Amino acid sequence: TYIVNDNCIACKYTDCVEVCPVDCFYEGENMLVIHPDECIDCGVCEPECPADAIRPDTEPEMEKWVEFNRKYSEMW
Ligand code: SF4
Repeated sequence: TYIVNDNCIACKYTDCVEVCPVDCFYEGENMLVIHPDECIDCGVCEPECPADAIRPDTEPEMEKWVEFNRKYSEMW
């Protein structure tokens, strides 16, 4: 599963949203998030991000972002 971190804040690009085959990006308050259960782990969004904000949840520094992404994915 891929997750978005705070490098996304203030980024104006939405190329990641356009390439996602399962539409699992959602808008948070000031950044995009990925629904961790809907992401199929295809990885195509990662190279599209100019801010390096999309990382696999297996990276230690991304663990704290998983629940944040889930919360904002389900908020609206
Ligand atoms: Fe969508 Fe694939 Fe990125 Fe997951 S890894 S958010 S399924 S484009």
